[in-house]
Amino acid sequence: MFQGFEWYVSAEGNFYKWMTSEIEKYKEIGFTSIWLPPMSKATSEFDVGYGIYDLFDLGEFDQKGQIRTKYGTKEELLTLIETAHEHGISVYADIVLNHKAGADYSEVFKVVKVNPDNRLEEISEPYDIEGFTGFDFPGRKGKYSEFKWNFNHFTGVDYDHLSGENGVYKILGENKDWSLGVSGEKGNYDYLMFADINHSHPEVREELFHYSDWLVETTGVDGFRLDAMRHINDYFIRDFVKHTLEKQKEGFYIFGEYWTADLDKSRNFTYQTDFEIDLFDVGLHFNFHQASLANELYDLRKIFDNTLVQSNPTMAVTFVDNHDSQPDQSLSSWVGAWFKPLAYGIILLRQEGYPCVFFGDYYGVGGEYPEEGKAEVLEKLMLCRKSFAYGQQDDYFNDPNVVGWVRHGDEEHPFASATILSNKEDSLISMYVGEHYAGQEFADYLGNHPDKVMINEDGYGNFKVYKRSISCWVKDDTVI
Ligand code: CA
Repeated sequence: MFQGFEWYVSAEGNFYKWMTSEIEKYKEIGFTSIWLPPMSKATSEFDVGYGIYDLFDLGEFDQKGQIRTKYGTKEELLTLIETAHEHGISVYADIVLNHKAGADYSEVFKVVKVNPDNRLEEISEPYDIEGFTGFDFPGRKGKYSEFKWNFNHFTGVDYDHLSGENGVYKILGENKDWSLGVSGEKGNYDYLMFADINHSHPEVREELFHYSDWLVETTGVDGFRLDAMRHINDYFIRDFVKHTLEKQKEGFYIFGEYWTADLDKSRNFTYQTDFEIDLFDVGLHFNFHQASLANELYDLRKIFDNTLVQSNPTMAVTFVDNHDSQPDQSLSSWVGAWFKPLAYGIILLRQEGYPCVFFGDYYGVGGEYPEEGKAEVLEKLMLCRKSFAYGQQDDYFNDPNVVGWVRHGDEEHPFASATILSNKEDSLISMYVGEHYAGQEFADYLGNHPDKVMINEDGYGNFKVYKRSISCWVKDDTVI
């Protein structure tokens, strides 16, 4: 999978058009799917898309200052998706259901103020505030959905226009409270930002189910990436996913973000949602982050400890970094540059997990802490995966500073590969690739090590790696 955006991509409005021209290349290097940035109209043309205003405006209506979104118009979006499909690449939409932003009008309603660090603690009597919770989408005029939102459809806001104060305000109403089935961080982490959607309201449920049907019918996307699931009632998510999977064709793929390094919490969530949603392997990301900071003090044998890819490999979307972990963003935990090729080798060349390559690692990231892209390194790893990462996997995880594994190939891809990585010094591991390779030479497909390795009569080779590097050895004449 390719995560097709980073936080700071151009807001000039030509993003969809540009990406359409890149699709051919994605196909060649082996991407089979793209996760696109949030498609719906957000607070402004500069909004990445998570400050979502109108679910049903994909860059079609004159709202929030312009017709297009940050990325382009609806027509350009549909062309991009069509082009991806013509090249056999699936497209996943980023679905933001936790909140809405940029209301059309304010309303006066009753709230209690809560302690921002413990939302279960009320710190005021009930009183009236003026909050931005009215959405009637004047530019869309009821097309695709007649639904209008008001404060009854939300659980909380963070701004009172009467007093000009900020805080966390819980909206009062009959049978109304913070949602159950959300993260217990801050007491109850239902409220994240903007106007927090009340998913137990029957009208809201119906509207969001309708949105799911409409979006797939309109765009032809092949899956959903669900945003901010820690802040949404997990029973609502379960029902939303069930509804979507029942409506859509077999193979519709749903995955999402449950941002915690606590494996038990991730696993509990997968249980509560009937194992229908794959999850980003946040634990593995944090291990990569740690490994990149600790250098040779990190024990590479522990790289899969506390990860989803180890405990639930078929449910893990493995990734190195994303738009939130990049420098300067909300969950900043950037993996150091030297370790990136090793981390990508781990997600791309092994059997387990559904690997996701980050736009920012491929093209580079912008913002205040820009980083160069590593397109060449990633393309080599991707092509290596495409040709050589198949079949049985034998691990050689015996040394804290150098680990390796062999893939033995399968019927369609009958070539063995031996991958080795080191976080300390130049090293080697003797690994078994098979007697049928006896007397033949292997070379590093990634081009990081110049030597040739001869396979002995027992089918072993002494596969080498330079310090703080990765090599993937394949039969010499298969190196392009
Ligand atoms: Ca929420």
